[in-house]
Amino acid sequence: MRLFCATTNPGKLVEFRKALEDSCALETLPGLKSIPPCDETGSTFEENAIQKALYYSRHCEGQLFVDDSGLEVQALGGAPGVYSARFAGPDASDEANNRLLLERMQSAADRSARFVCVVALASQGELIDTFRGLVNGQLLQAPRGLNGFGYDPLFFYPPFGCTFGEVPLERKMEVSHRAQALRAMVAQLRELKVD
Ligand code: IMP
Repeated sequence: MRLFCATTNPGKLVEFRKALEDSCALETLPGLKSIPPCDETGSTFEENAIQKALYYSRHCEGQLFVDDSGLEVQALGGAPGVYSARFAGPDASDEANNRLLLERMQSAADRSARFVCVVALASQGELIDTFRGLVNGQLLQAPRGLNGFGYDPLFFYPPFGCTFGEVPLERKMEVSHRAQALRAMVAQLRELKVD
């Protein structure tokens, strides 16, 4: 099965490759960096994922998927949510986003949070389907671990007894929101007998 993906986030790309290594020949969309970026104007992960999948799939032949994902924090009413990548401003670094999150959470007693991922699969401007995954955890008071990306060092996952930033990629991919969504996409492609 050959699939294109459209992402400029190296953390996501490593995880796509790991999750799909046994099932797909994964290629990044040729010329992605020279394509004007797709607007992300939706208020849900689904809306943004669909918007991006429809847009980028017009730039290749074959099936293409994108991921829209983020962190939803209970005490912040679901923020940063779809604004996770730009929580501390446009083009904010992971460190700046994490710092702002800790600031906003300073007096929060409830530290529960979840990662959500929606993968949208499309072909030449037509949506095939969307796939959702989520994982629940707790936000720490300070980052722990150097693995992963984004909010991983703050995201304590109780069944592991540590953060996503402290586990190897393989371990995160056993349970992550992204791995769940990608596994659901592969299952559907297998059912449709796409090769
Ligand atoms: P998107 O590129 O608009 O989907 O934004 C995704 C953002 O959500 C990333 O830049 C991270 O800040 C955050 N995020 C999504 N998935 C993860 C994850 O697996 N670990 C840590 N942060 C994540």
